[in-house]
Amino acid sequence: MGVDENRFSLTCAACGRTYGPRKRVWRCECGGLLDLNPPAPQLVRDTFTALRSTGARREAHGLWRYAPLLPIAHPDEVRAYGEGLTPLTRARAAGHAARAAKGSAALGPLLKLDYLFPSGSFKDRGSAVMLNRLRELDVTDLVEDSSGNAGASVATYSARNGLRCAIFAPASASRGKLAQVAQAGARLVAVPGPREKATEEAEEAAKAGAYYAGHNRNPFFLAGMKTWAYEVYEQLGGRAPGDCVFPVGGGSMLIGAHRGFRDLLAAGLISRLPRLWAAQTDSCDPVARAIAEGLDHLPPVDKRPTVAEGIALVQPPRGAKILAAIRETGGGAVTVPEGDVLPAAGELARLGFFVEPTSVAAWAGCTRLATTGRFPDPADVVVTLTGSGLKFRDWPVVAATP
Ligand SMILES: [Zn+2]
Repeated sequence: MGVDENRFSLTCAACGRTYGPRKRVWRCECGGLLDLNPPAPQLVRDTFTALRSTGARREAHGLWRYAPLLPIAHPDEVRAYGEGLTPLTRARAAGHAARAAKGSAALGPLLKLDYLFPSGSFKDRGSAVMLNRLRELDVTDLVEDSSGNAGASVATYSARNGLRCAIFAPASASRGKLAQVAQAGARLVAVPGPREKATEEAEEAAKAGAYYAGHNRNPFFLAGMKTWAYEVYEQLGGRAPGDCVFPVGGGSMLIGAHRGFRDLLAAGLISRLPRLWAAQTDSCDPVARAIAEGLDHLPPVDKRPTVAEGIALVQPPRGAKILAAIRETGGGAVTVPEGDVLPAAGELARLGFFVEPTSVAAWAGCTRLATTGRFPDPADVVVTLTGSGLKFRDWPVVAATP
């Protein structure tokens, strides 16, 4: 088996069974989740060397510059929008972080502006790669369950790739996100009851022949998430940051970044992994509790209503992977009080970054970690901002009268 073919093969994380590159499976016969084999270290080195050399692949914009490392057989035929390579920009420190900062320059963390994707959220990293791979595999119909951004993103890229798409969403999901799904031409199925019910219904529908493209399970989606780490590495001039903070629900962003940095480590391009931190709110914080209690699984939690709806997942399918990634890197988790989220959103918006409350959890979590001395170098931290503020409908608005 050549290197290239190996890169497209899938391996079951539970039983080790492997599936060849043309298999249209999303999980193992044993029920376990599938992972793509990591790219060969030499291929990773060659890819980044080519990107460094003068003008090489200059025509390949955005995340497609990493196509040799992605499960894409025909990069020249990709149907996408030139997405990715989102800005990495320095924020001023705000609030008590600024007051606590020593010296004259109150530097805040670096912000990765992943809300600037075509559908308005970071999920496009995964959807762009997944939908192109599914088209290469001649998939014509897919189903996906989502409470919001992922559904809108998968619908957007299904439209671009000409696949028929059905999105199963909780009937209670944010209306703006549901509208985005329907506007993109996807079939929207509103499922009454809890979020988990939408997953059950989507898996049931997939038995009729459609491909189940659940973003929290799909290996191609996860492969797209790795591009976050590749971009940060390049944008920092060829190094990894000290610490990274992510809002964590299903954990695809954190797990994807972990795998991307591992690729760079295995290739000898970085000498250690950055510490990865998960930010949650106290309305739903199973990851933070598991870390605090030293568990290797997520404990049951009672979910309360939250403005950070994108990270309100009680039992994400890759929960154990989230914990393992955090522990391997020496990172941790932080819980943000629900009542702190909207004030922190205002603080962030006044610095020029209008993002949805889910993203704000990471910013607020970063502030807490910085002020409690958890970062060796608070200026060498990257916080990812995952979704546009325009996604959220319930901002408090105070208008002046003329
Ligand atoms: Zn298996």
